[in-house]
Amino acid sequence: MNIKNMIIEQLRCIGADGLCGEECGCGIDDLMPCGDPHERECVAACKVGNEYRPFYEPKEEMEELHPMRISALQIRAHDIARSKGWWDEERTFLEICALIHSEVSEAVEWWRNCEHDGDIVEGKPEGTAVELADVIIRVLDYAGKRGWNMERIIDAKMRYNETREHKHGGKRA
Ligand SMILES: [Mg+2]
Repeated sequence: MNIKNMIIEQLRCIGADGLCGEECGCGIDDLMPCGDPHERECVAACKVGNEYRPFYEPKEEMEELHPMRISALQIRAHDIARSKGWWDEERTFLEICALIHSEVSEAVEWWRNCEHDGDIVEGKPEGTAVELADVIIRVLDYAGKRGWNMERIIDAKMRYNETREHKHGGKRA
C-alpha cells in the first residue's frame, strides 16, 4: 500500500472528509499532490459547506453542522495525552485497563461522598460525571494509540444490541 492510500485509509477510518492546510482543503478522493508547499502540514478535515476545516476545531458553526463526533474526540484525547508525555514510553494494555478502573473508582467515591454530579470547582471539573468522562477520555486515548475507530465500533455494537432479546435472553443484570 502506498503512502497516499495509507492516508486515505486513515482518513476513512476516523470518518474525516479530507485534509486541510492554512488556506486550502481537499476531499478524500482528491488528495495529493496538490502543489501547496505546506502540504506536509495538512491535518484531517471535515467538510463544512464548501470549506474543509480541521477535524476537531471547536467552532460554533461547526458544532451546529457537525456535532462533536467520537472520532474527533478520539484524535483530540490521544493528541493531548501525547503532548503531555503520557506516551513517551510504551504502556501496556493492562496498565491502561488499571487506569480506566481507577477512574471508575473515583466516580464511585464522588457518588458515595455527595450528590455532586459534576461542577467546575476553582477552575477544575469535578464530580461523578466528570470521572466517567475520564473513563471515556482514557478509552479514546488508547483507541487512538491502537488506531481503533471507536465511533464505528460503538455504532456497530449498538446496532447489534438493538437486535438482542429482552434482557439479552433473561440475564439478571
Ligand atoms: Mg479522574
